[in-house]
Amino acid sequence: MQPWAVIVHTGAGRKPEKKREEVEKAAREAVAAALAVMREGGKALDMCVAAVKVLEDSPVLNAGTGSVLTVDGRCEMDAALMVGSTQRVGAVANVERIRHPIELARAVMEHTDHVLLSGEGAERFARHLGFPEYDPITEERRKQWRELIGRLERGEPPRWARKLPEFLKAYPELLHGTVGCVVLGPDGEIVAGTSTGGIFLKLFGRIGDTPIPGAGTFAAPAGGASATGIGEGIMRSLLTFRAVQRMEEGLPAQEAARKALDEAARRVPELEAGLITVDRAGRVGFAHNTEAMPVAYATHEQESVQFAERAP
Ligand code: ASP
Repeated sequence: MQPWAVIVHTGAGRKPEKKREEVEKAAREAVAAALAVMREGGKALDMCVAAVKVLEDSPVLNAGTGSVLTVDGRCEMDAALMVGSTQRVGAVANVERIRHPIELARAVMEHTDHVLLSGEGAERFARHLGFPEYDPITEERRKQWRELIGRLERGEPPRWARKLPEFLKAYPELLHGTVGCVVLGPDGEIVAGTSTGGIFLKLFGRIGDTPIPGAGTFAAPAGGASATGIGEGIMRSLLTFRAVQRMEEGLPAQEAARKALDEAARRVPELEAGLITVDRAGRVGFAHNTEAMPVAYATHEQESVQFAERAP
């Protein structure tokens, strides 16, 4: 039997208690969507995109609808997809009016010679392809944004611009909600996909780890990985690339995730992150150094969808 596996994450950080059930539901539904595609004969790429789209549509997660806002109250989303066997990548950064950034990332991979399109250019490309205009900002995110800006203006905590990571340490719940998926399909292909609104109160124009191959998203024939957390540290330590390298050396997905995170944190001590992994044998792994990182997964050996809030 050809092994297969699907794992999704819904972001590293502290889970807001009142959103717990909704987060679990979205994570389970995302895996179920990938499995439905598989049962209809779909491949790893379609499975991964289907799962990420479900997560992007969840207003409690920080991707697509319900993405967090920049310091000037806008929504600038990043997403990427990578295919293991060919190492082809499609990614978008700073897109504002798209319902499913992961679909746009796929279009960049399939219809252009490029890896990453950003901002206005990415949106023009989207409109040419017929992606409709969509406003992903929810009322709840606007409310949170107003509260945070108010706090910042009152000087509590000290001005964020000096050290955004420290601000986020004080408010870890703000990080929660980036989404990602890694699939080994019955076609033997490994695909990793990640989608995010970035981090709350980021500067306009800031691009995180998500659309950067080897940082937030990476896949090779041996395995794939999707990361979440404060993107600056993930980019500086190439977290997902490290995990895939470990799988290339023969480590199973779980050990690869743990080892990559430990190594990355040694290089960048302020790293706050988590990642999910899948290896060629259809094993899944996940690790994080944040308080939590909800995941859901299913594999050829464990077909019913499992959910966990923290790594073992
Ligand atoms: N990694 C994302 C970023 O920095 C945020 C997150 O994972 O929550 O853009």
